[in-house]
Parts: sequence; structure tokens; C-alpha cells
Amino acid sequence: MSLREIVTWPDARLSTRCDPVDEITAEIRAQAEDMLETMYAAPGRGLAAPQIGVLNRMFVTDVSWKEGRPDPQVYINPEILQASETLVDGDEGCLSIPGVTTRITRPDSVHLVWTSLEGARISQVFTGFAAACVQHELDHLNGIVTLDRLSAEDRARAEAEYAA
Ligand code: ZN
Repeated sequence: MSLREIVTWPDARLSTRCDPVDEITAEIRAQAEDMLETMYAAPGRGLAAPQIGVLNRMFVTDVSWKEGRPDPQVYINPEILQASETLVDGDEGCLSIPGVTTRITRPDSVHLVWTSLEGARISQVFTGFAAACVQHELDHLNGIVTLDRLSAEDRARAEAEYAA
């Protein structure tokens, strides 16, 4: 395992739509391990492949390790099947935009399907913080960062804060 360097905004790789993972190879498994290690070291609760400069559709999360309940998860080729009509606001940080917290509005629950490292197709409904986390990471695979989800005014404020 090795720590990877985290790409920071406005690197163009963070604005690029990532390609599907065709096959789960040793290289893909090593990437997943490195992403988890890099996420924990950051420290963060989620990390997407483009954040280490790899443009494929994989992200990792662990939404509860900071509370002493480690739950490492690897998501390959994730897709949202359904999102709730109910929206909620939440504060989101991003390891690629250090020091900036943004208020983002998202569906409060999503039904996600993905492929596990073992090659199984998994289906799960996420709510609350975990729902925001998987949506944030999936956004990265589509070249979207938190700033892209803000109003022009809020974005200008966040960019000024980032530059300061
Ligand atoms: Zn992020």
C-alpha cells in the first residue's frame, strides 16, 4: 500500500468525467487499498479516484471511523437508481478544496448500486450523512465539485475563501 498525493482544485482532473472500470484487476485492488490509506491519512471520510489523479469510476468511504467504528467501503462503477424528492442542506468539506466548507442541497436519501471489489453488484439505500457522502463522491466521478453546486454568489465567496 502507498499513500497517494491528493489532487487539489482547480486541477483539470477534478473537472473530468471518469471512465468505467472494465475489470477488477490487481491494479484496481491496489488502487482501492491506496485510496483507503490516503483517505484515512488525510484524514477524511470519502475519497474518489480523480482526487488521486486516476480517472476511473471508483470511490471509497468510511463514514463512521472517526467515531471509532471503522467501516471501509469500496464502490466501483456506482450509479444512483433513485433519489428522494425530499432535499436537505448539509455542510460539506472536500479533501481537494482544503479549508473550505460549503452548504450543499441534496436529496436526503438515494438508492445506489455498485460493484464490489469481489465483483458482486450491490444495491443499498443511503440516508442522512452517508447519503450526502456517496453523492459527493459520485459527483467527483462526473467531474463535479462542491463549488459547482453553489449559486454564483456563494461560489464567489467560497473561491475567495479558498484563495485567501
Ligand atoms: Zn470531495
